[in-house]
Amino acid sequence: MSRVEVRFVCEECGYASPKWLGKCPGCGSWNSFVEERINEEQRKGKRIDKPSLQASSIPLSKVPYESDFRFESGLSELDRVLGGGIVKASSILVGGEPGIGKSTLLIQVAHNCSADRKVLYVSGEESAGQVRQRAERLGLVLDRINILTETNLEVILDVIEKEKPQIVIVDSLQTLSSAEISSHAGSVSQIRYGCMEISGVCKEVGAAVFYVAHVTKEGTIAGPKIIEHMVDTVLYFEQGAMGVRLVRSAKNRFGSVDEIGIFQMSDKGLDPVSDPSMFFVSERQDEQIPPGIAFSAVIEGSRTFIVEIQALVVDSKAGYGRIYSEKVESSRISRIAAIMERHANVRMTDKDIYVNVAGGVKVDDVCIDLAIAEALWSAYANVSLPDKMLCLGELSLAGEVRPVSFAGKRLKAASDMGFKRAVTSRVNEAEVSLQVKNCHMIGDAFGVLER
Ligand SMILES: [Zn+2]
Repeated sequence: MSRVEVRFVCEECGYASPKWLGKCPGCGSWNSFVEERINEEQRKGKRIDKPSLQASSIPLSKVPYESDFRFESGLSELDRVLGGGIVKASSILVGGEPGIGKSTLLIQVAHNCSADRKVLYVSGEESAGQVRQRAERLGLVLDRINILTETNLEVILDVIEKEKPQIVIVDSLQTLSSAEISSHAGSVSQIRYGCMEISGVCKEVGAAVFYVAHVTKEGTIAGPKIIEHMVDTVLYFEQGAMGVRLVRSAKNRFGSVDEIGIFQMSDKGLDPVSDPSMFFVSERQDEQIPPGIAFSAVIEGSRTFIVEIQALVVDSKAGYGRIYSEKVESSRISRIAAIMERHANVRMTDKDIYVNVAGGVKVDDVCIDLAIAEALWSAYANVSLPDKMLCLGELSLAGEVRPVSFAGKRLKAASDMGFKRAVTSRVNEAEVSLQVKNCHMIGDAFGVLER
């Protein structure tokens, strides 16, 4: 009989403790600890190699230069988020809610790369027939993609070792199950063990590996958070409005994390949106914009986007105001509303405030403070703002409009998109091709609009 060690692990972040805890010291979650049993044999690990006695160091100059260590996925927006393409033998986690398009994206990647690379698609979620149907619907060449419908980890490892693919897609991480681990598929220990073993074998055969991992708000299944530190790159899907999908990287060992990939879902799968500069602005027939709309320019990685902030301000039924905002943090809206009330005499306390961003993109760039204030004022006063007017500024608690970083770049992008004027702070009009109104205090920003 092998000795079994019992410990408790947080399903949210993987924090381990010898005893059960109500609140996780790692991530602050409540009731997230589950029991985990580890075999003594398994701890010793049959895959741990003996340290080599021949090891020696070499000068950096003697390290062979790898010129082609990246290859393209065939989806420009995915390559952008990855930092220029898929890195050979790297591991990539793709997280998101069920049904958001993770499998669709990866079957497209599998297909694109299969033209000159060997691809293995491991499906534990769907049957081979279902995957085939999806691939057919997307119009992909079927005989280039090899599929393995399997959830048993040892079998999967064996196939990877034997077939030596160059790309492996594991859909999903939560279905993997190893006989070495006593807990059920989808548990923290199964996910962690499966990820470690597959990454190990993929490194050996030189395959890049994508892991699909589901995230649910209810937290009924262990989240991908627990393996974020075990992979090279972490990508998260975000749902936008009208079939828009955004892919952001939360970690990237081979590139920056501030690029954002934008896709449009269609019957042919996820199409990269290569020119998104006006993608987050609603299309309108006439030049007149309704009250409650203001525009700003945000920078994501190497690109600048125009974003449309929409606001609605109505009398509160409850007697006290509430804020409804998903795409911009509510605490930020309430701070801006408080600044407006104190410094511009716009009373918001007894109002319900709704704020949205067109296209459903999440924005946390501070430069949109002024646009939020302008949209709120416009909704409150029921007066349309002038069309093609860019609002650019951060608000201080003292009611000042503060200048933003890369103002020149943002104003240039707006002017390229046909914007005529801008409300901002400390911008030299002579240096930009827009009519500029510089405001020092928030009150002045509204004043200029009323005339
Ligand atoms: Zn935790």
